Amino acid sequence: MEAEDSNGNGNGRSNDHDIIRWFDTISTNVATVQRETLRQILELNRGVEYLKKWFGDKDLDIREMDACEMESLYTSLVPLASHEDLEPFIQRIADGDTSPILTQHPITTLSLSSGTTEGRQKFIPFTRHSSETTLQIFRLAAAYRSRVYPTRSKGRILEFIYSSKRFKTGGGLMAGTATTHYFASEEFRIKQEKTKLFTCSPHEVISSGDYKQTTYCHLLLGLFFHKEVECITSTFAYSIVQAFSSFEEQWEDICKDIKEGNVSNKITLPKMRKAVLDIIEPNPILASRIEAICEGLQGSDWFGLVPKLWPNAKYVYSIMTGSMQHYLKKLRHYCGSLPLVSAEYGSTESWIGVNLDPSLEPEKVTFAVMPTFSYFEFIPLYRQDQYSGSGSVDFIEDDPVPLSQVKVGQEYEIVLTTFTGLYRYRLGDVVEVSGFHNETPKLKFICRRKLLLVVNIDKNTEKDLQLVVERGSQLLSKHRAELVDFTSHAKLTHQPGHYVIYWEIKGEVEERVLCECCREMDASFVDPGYVVSRRTNSIGPLELCIVERGTFKKILDYFIGNGAALSQFKTPRCTNDQTLLKILDLYAVKRFRSTAYS
Ligand code: AMP
Repeated sequence: MEAEDSNGNGNGRSNDHDIIRWFDTISTNVATVQRETLRQILELNRGVEYLKKWFGDKDLDIREMDACEMESLYTSLVPLASHEDLEPFIQRIADGDTSPILTQHPITTLSLSSGTTEGRQKFIPFTRHSSETTLQIFRLAAAYRSRVYPTRSKGRILEFIYSSKRFKTGGGLMAGTATTHYFASEEFRIKQEKTKLFTCSPHEVISSGDYKQTTYCHLLLGLFFHKEVECITSTFAYSIVQAFSSFEEQWEDICKDIKEGNVSNKITLPKMRKAVLDIIEPNPILASRIEAICEGLQGSDWFGLVPKLWPNAKYVYSIMTGSMQHYLKKLRHYCGSLPLVSAEYGSTESWIGVNLDPSLEPEKVTFAVMPTFSYFEFIPLYRQDQYSGSGSVDFIEDDPVPLSQVKVGQEYEIVLTTFTGLYRYRLGDVVEVSGFHNETPKLKFICRRKLLLVVNIDKNTEKDLQLVVERGSQLLSKHRAELVDFTSHAKLTHQPGHYVIYWEIKGEVEERVLCECCREMDASFVDPGYVVSRRTNSIGPLELCIVERGTFKKILDYFIGNGAALSQFKTPRCTNDQTLLKILDLYAVKRFRSTAYS
């Protein structure tokens, strides 16, 4: 391997400089850059059915118009839209209508959003632009990371990535998750060459469609190439935790495979078997070394597994914010003192922001908006401090403002106009502006906008629930137990309705401690609507339901079985899905009701 340089050969550093300079240019004077982006989108999709609907038959010559006039005309004529508003148009595309509905260039590929937060998967148009921006943001983020954590050229990345099956829609369009399209794209290959860091697993492993077998092979190859591994990554942190927890159970089989240069019979998919067998060779010395390390790690509950097994890894890189924050504790346990770098902020609809401060703790990470990727607007959101108003209203909204007019400390919902044919599309994420890089805002991800827990006048979001669960589960660590995963449900079948929080825990905990956890969580919801309703008993005592070990794996299997991809999987933090609730109730082992407010 060559000397330290993140991007490999002699060109590495100049590549880094080029992309950082490019970002510095576009993040300066963002008002103009954003208007130019909007102009490009409207020009590209001039005359499409959806825009005609709002612009009327006027054939606006966008190129000739004053930029400010064009922007205000667009935002005054085209209304804000939700996915439901655009769904009939997207469905026609999926059914094979090739007329210019949302875009002038016919859409040939559709992405499926993960569907694990909203309960159902949504089709989103995917174009070459989607893969190109993915490559661009990954290269930019890599350039910033390499300033802080340089990696060796021609090294490897142990990437826990998973493609799901792609399929054809009724109209013959290719459909699959955005990550699946990306892993199959030319841009994914180019990224490896540009960053001179190569993924350990061949395409046959990434695309096998069986996440358990893929995880096994990722681990096997990651260990086979352990000396070359410079960093460990996944899309969402959940996948890394999931992979190492399965390693705890499978390490002996993996060592045997490394010793013999073989692949366990558990790996039944022929293409994947062959691809892995083509790579690995018998290495008994390495196998005994890993065995000795694992025997030692067992005694410390696998603390520091990553730096012990991958001594050259410089950092672990993945999305660790939002609903992934829960897995940080376990990730830190596996990683010891190895830096955790929180990855970029994006969605199937569009990439949004890049992490420019890789050394920041994941809890403090912000994302600088990419002003050429989409046209962004921000709906100011004000929390209701009174419980007045309808139970379905979480925030009071103001009129949307453009990117150049956001204010530090203010919370907003993001609205996107994309190159892929989404116009003033409400993304449903709540962010807070925490500062600026040049003129582009740095966003802190707060939560999904959709209310999670509602019985009557109470309003609790994903973030509120997360804080409450953190408080409640602190008691577990004092008793050498840990919270593996959690979800919740507002149970309305009996009056008064109440919240149920489901926990899967590792370790033995006395019932009196769990009672205390339950009470602590109930008392920790600070939303005035909840507090008042609990005091007057119009919301009943919170219920803590402990489920068997492995229940959340079953939930994962349920989602994967319905077409979700592990790379995009996020445990739903609140659910009304009847099948999921059945799984949770089937594996319930203990239930507690809170004594707070009694
Ligand atoms: P999907 O398009 O279904 O894969 O999920 C996109 C959603 O994941 C976004 O709208 C966010 O709610 C969440 N998300 C993506 N990136 C991040 C991030 N870096 N931090 C927190 N949440 C994220």
